[in-house]
Amino acid sequence: MMGRRKSEQGQLFYAFDLDAVVPEDHQVRQIAAVLDLSWVRGELAPHYSHTGRPSIDPELMIRMLILGYVFAIRSERALCREVQLNLAYRWFCSLGIEDKIPDHSAFTRARNERFREHDVFRRVFERVVANCIKADLVGGTGFAVDASLIAADANKCRSTPGDEWSRDIDPATVERAVQDYLANLDNPAWGAASDVVPKFVAPADPAAQWTGALRNAAFFAYADNYLIDVKFGIIMDVEASRAIRQAEVGASQTMIERTEATFGIKPEWLAADTAYGSAPNLHFLVDQKDIAPHIPVIEKSQRDDGTFSRSDFTYDAEHDVYVCPNGTILRTNGRLRDDGMYAYYSRVSDCKTCSFKLRCCAKTPERKITRHQYEAARDVARAVAKTDAYEQTRRDRKKVEMLFAHLKRILRMGRLRLRGPAGAQFEFTFAAIAQNLRRLAKLTFRPPDAAVPRVA
Ligand code: SF4
Repeated sequence: MMGRRKSEQGQLFYAFDLDAVVPEDHQVRQIAAVLDLSWVRGELAPHYSHTGRPSIDPELMIRMLILGYVFAIRSERALCREVQLNLAYRWFCSLGIEDKIPDHSAFTRARNERFREHDVFRRVFERVVANCIKADLVGGTGFAVDASLIAADANKCRSTPGDEWSRDIDPATVERAVQDYLANLDNPAWGAASDVVPKFVAPADPAAQWTGALRNAAFFAYADNYLIDVKFGIIMDVEASRAIRQAEVGASQTMIERTEATFGIKPEWLAADTAYGSAPNLHFLVDQKDIAPHIPVIEKSQRDDGTFSRSDFTYDAEHDVYVCPNGTILRTNGRLRDDGMYAYYSRVSDCKTCSFKLRCCAKTPERKITRHQYEAARDVARAVAKTDAYEQTRRDRKKVEMLFAHLKRILRMGRLRLRGPAGAQFEFTFAAIAQNLRRLAKLTFRPPDAAVPRVA
């Protein structure tokens, strides 16, 4: 006999315990246990009027956004649908079975208005990092830094040649992403990062950088910069910047200073790839921050044609001279060049009779050696690269790359949804919150050893 549902009429009364239907080991329970947003309403209260219609609860919106990034739901429209239907998501957001879900348009308004004024997303990120520190997941000794390119919401078909696009635009006539870029023209991470005119500009999102850095088809991108603690790969800071090296190095310095100011943590050493091995950056780390640079030095003086390189000349710090392979002296005129270098010259009379002339300066009457004003900091990095610890820190550096791989593959952050510096910063900050929460929840509930305590 063909069965039939007991009743085709809607049930009038339900006895439904939402808490009972969410499995004990569901990830939302673990995330909820390590996430404290009880402070949000108090901190945002001054930004809300005491009269008028009640707004959507800001804590609810932040919880929904966190859900979206933790479970890789990339659109706010889809997020609202998922929370509407998924009981575990409703439980995480403290919504009852019949509670209404906010409209997706409310997120755009809140993001661009009240939340932005208070920088509430940054506060959420810092609170999550503070919880990771409390749970003893941050060693504070060794950090690693890196940047990854994330495609912008801009495409070549709607771009303009760089030399045909002008910054002289009335901000009142353009969209928010362009206004945001125009407001950041003096910012070293954005407009002031480089004077080079890019090949193409996306008029709808001029902060996006046209780049061919991945050696396949060029595209518009932003750089997502992470500063991590290598003990468990906790992201200590995150910063959006233009996708060029100068901006990424500037972002790394901003993150190091901000981590020190916010959490009182400055690492003993920092691991990074060659992109961070410029003399000014090594000077910042060694001379200003007293951080050991586990970073390959950018070397342009090495010759591979069999002639003497600068490394074949010995620097005498006491007398500020170089000694050549023939034992004669190269002196400087003491003038600092625009590129931050001092030049040292041999004497023509010495070179004229030297048996090494062809291997040293065959085409010039004397030999010139340059030395950067921050060469001492470069020497520190070269010395670090010869230590045993350097081999280990090179491996530790891979933890940032793994986080970026996780970001793109698991959290599906291969392309940004939002435009402009603020849009990129919002997306990168929430992605970093999601990655830290996942790591904190995992290590709290399944610690790698008994030493990792639970978050109070
Ligand atoms: S050519 Fe001049 S600088 Fe070079 S090794 Fe000979 S003396 Fe020294």
